[in-house]
Amino acid sequence: MAKLGIKEMDNQETIKLMRDMAMDASQKAYSPYSKAKIGSTVLTVERKYFSGSNVENSSYGATICAERVAILKAVSNGFTKLSKIYVYSKDGWPPCGMCRQMISEFATNDLEIIIGDKEGNERVYKFTELFPEAFTPEHLRK
Ligand code: ZN
Repeated sequence: MAKLGIKEMDNQETIKLMRDMAMDASQKAYSPYSKAKIGSTVLTVERKYFSGSNVENSSYGATICAERVAILKAVSNGFTKLSKIYVYSKDGWPPCGMCRQMISEFATNDLEIIIGDKEGNERVYKFTELFPEAFTPEHLRK
């Protein structure tokens, strides 16, 4: 195995912590209807971590995904610039379209999305790969 530099080691430890927090959050999912247990962790540019789980509602439209819960926790604590987002589910589900739109509001240029599953597989994307041509706050400033 190749030796890793400090930056890569730090990145691996960051991703492991984000995975652990997301897995823990997934156990707290409120999902009596779908039974899906999703957890997400966001990392802000200030290196603050916030996690969340999906929260369903008997009025299905009021359901909110784990990614948006984690983002709302960050934003409501004053942190609005995201550098990484981890999404954990048993089968490695990617963020839905509504989450991608909300992520675009708070995404830094190099935002990474890491999608993990119960087997330990992880897929890493640049956010711009998952959501090209996003409608962002920049469009409203012109
Ligand atoms: Zn979603």
